[in-house]
Amino acid sequence: MLPEPWFRYAGFWNRRIRHVGWRRYCPVCESHLRAFVAHRNDPEMQFDSLCPVCACKCPHRCDWLFIQDYCRRASGRLRLLHVAPEPHLGRRLAALTNVDYVCGDIVAGIGDVRLDICRLPFADASFDLICCCHVLMMLPDDAPAIAEMFRVLRPGGIAVIENPVATGVGTLEPATAEERLELFKDETILRLYGDDYRERLSAAGFVLDEVCPADGIAPAKRERMEIYSGNVILSRKPDPTR
Ligand SMILES: [Zn+2]
Repeated sequence: MLPEPWFRYAGFWNRRIRHVGWRRYCPVCESHLRAFVAHRNDPEMQFDSLCPVCACKCPHRCDWLFIQDYCRRASGRLRLLHVAPEPHLGRRLAALTNVDYVCGDIVAGIGDVRLDICRLPFADASFDLICCCHVLMMLPDDAPAIAEMFRVLRPGGIAVIENPVATGVGTLEPATAEERLELFKDETILRLYGDDYRERLSAAGFVLDEVCPADGIAPAKRERMEIYSGNVILSRKPDPTR
């Protein structure tokens, strides 16, 4: 991953100083904050939960805590693919000592590789871990993307595929940009997943599991990080030899 240009680095420290406080803590950018902030365009985020320094949300904080812990426990090196990389999360993932980090986006210039998640430019079984946050909900057809992530994972590998999921309803896919704007406050979000989300992942062959990365964290510290909806859905590619 390319190093941050100096002016962005200066902006990072500027935001850190402006928002400094002791009530909240962001584990992704390691900032001590007065408060997290709401994200007005995000239907998932109608509460105080966006980091004003690195822009990570609660799911990113959970994913980071999980992946950091997973990599620390792993023996040997892990090859990690980060799709549509969030800059600060990407920098933390790339800095993990036993990780070979690859990141890419469909937009040229974001990440190391230009890639289409529906046709990943990687060999079968070439990654141990995938991190893919808030991408599937933007795709006209998510099945090819899920199948591609399954293909490039090694048997036994894990994909952290994060999307907002509503419970007690089916997946909502508004037909028009106007409806999406009204419902999601963002016309580029094509669907809000519902109870069939897990079925979509398991249809590609994944075996699903859930972990709460904040389980071992003291309640006061957990509250400082605003990790309240803390479960991470893990999509594991089965290993037939085990
Ligand atoms: Zn942060």
